[in-house]
Amino acid sequence: MALQAAALRDATPPRAVSAGAGRHGAAALGPLRGQRSGDSRKRGGTPVTDCDLLIVNAGLATMAGGQACGAILDGALVISDGRIAWVGARKDLPPALRAHEELDGRGGWLTPGLIDCHTHIVYAGNRAREFERRLAGASYEDIAREGGGIQATVRATRAASEEQLLRESEPRLKRLLDEGVTTVEIKSGYGLDIADELKLLRVARRLGAGNGVDVQTTLLAAHAVPPEYAGRAADYVSLVCEEIVPAAARERLADAVDAFCERIGFSPDQTRRVFSAAHAAGLRVKLHADQLSDSGGAALAAEFGALSADHLEHANDAGIAAMASAHTVAVLLPGAFYCLRETRLPPVAALRKNGVAMAIATDCNPGTSPVTSLLLMLNMACTLFRLTPEEALAGVTRHAAQALGLTDRGLLEAGARADLVLWDIDEPVELAYAVGANPLAGIVRGGRVVRWA
Ligand SMILES: [Zn+2]
Repeated sequence: MALQAAALRDATPPRAVSAGAGRHGAAALGPLRGQRSGDSRKRGGTPVTDCDLLIVNAGLATMAGGQACGAILDGALVISDGRIAWVGARKDLPPALRAHEELDGRGGWLTPGLIDCHTHIVYAGNRAREFERRLAGASYEDIAREGGGIQATVRATRAASEEQLLRESEPRLKRLLDEGVTTVEIKSGYGLDIADELKLLRVARRLGAGNGVDVQTTLLAAHAVPPEYAGRAADYVSLVCEEIVPAAARERLADAVDAFCERIGFSPDQTRRVFSAAHAAGLRVKLHADQLSDSGGAALAAEFGALSADHLEHANDAGIAAMASAHTVAVLLPGAFYCLRETRLPPVAALRKNGVAMAIATDCNPGTSPVTSLLLMLNMACTLFRLTPEEALAGVTRHAAQALGLTDRGLLEAGARADLVLWDIDEPVELAYAVGANPLAGIVRGGRVVRWA
């Protein structure tokens, strides 16, 4: 997985290649390289002569295995009907292709659209004052026990209308989109009753529809015990299992179910009840696991075939081995680690050794990770957790898709959704190297050109 940066540096940089002219001709193309047999429109390699969009004069960080980000220097990429139809070196591009539109990558690099696979972006208010308190010595757990933390956001969020939540949350989403995010997961978890949890999920869906971005929603009703259930956590878990999970599934508002398994959250047994209810409702699960202590969360997530186990700073070896067997993705959240000034690192070496896929996300939330920069998370994953730049980039593309159970994106390959980003960089490692830079130069979402500077 190590980034073979030298290989990229030593090769002729794509910037040296001039843009190709429009291509017109009558001859048919042969079968498209890497074409999926399941693509009915081109099943069996039926020759294709037309496409909607051709992008040339860019390096391609395909993330499709191999090494060096699956890089193709001086690449070409063909899009039809919202899907990538062909990926390869420009010299291999059949000259007869008729493209409705052709774009010049100007020697930059194309990557898959970025995927932020763990956010709590919909909430009201902010917790800047708690930031001050933590600086003065209070811990996250101190603040939670005093009714601050999640509970403070729950009060503000319950009091907010859908419109207000939309208004307050949209700027956070737009900051992610400005950095090339094309798919984002949004969790509920600040409503903690049936009406307000569903309200959050509806706002998340509306944010996606209104901003042309694919939003995956996750029900996190088991985020904290609401004040009206203080001392009656088991009763609240019953409400979650018997009413909130079934309602979210029935109204098709949730794509997955999550829980906060922690000393200040829910016990492993309570988490099991929530996960059983999720499975009964036909929903996959994810877990906030082993962030502050070893609760056996990694193994519990694996036991339920979770899409991902997230945080994992205190995960044990048996849990990591179980995650590997269950193909559960480890979602690492360096923003929360940084903001909480944690010192216990997630077990990256053990995750690598066991072949557990690692994703990276912002964990955008008002208390422990008020982060709206996925590019900054790439740098922090490398600087704080010692991921390689290639691992970090896979963590916001291929592995982030896997953490959401999405098999149609995260790679530049034929058949994938045409979500891609053009970067004004000389090599992919720059995306993880620079702090505070945003070299975004173009966005294509679902085959539609959203931006091309
Ligand atoms: Zn979280």
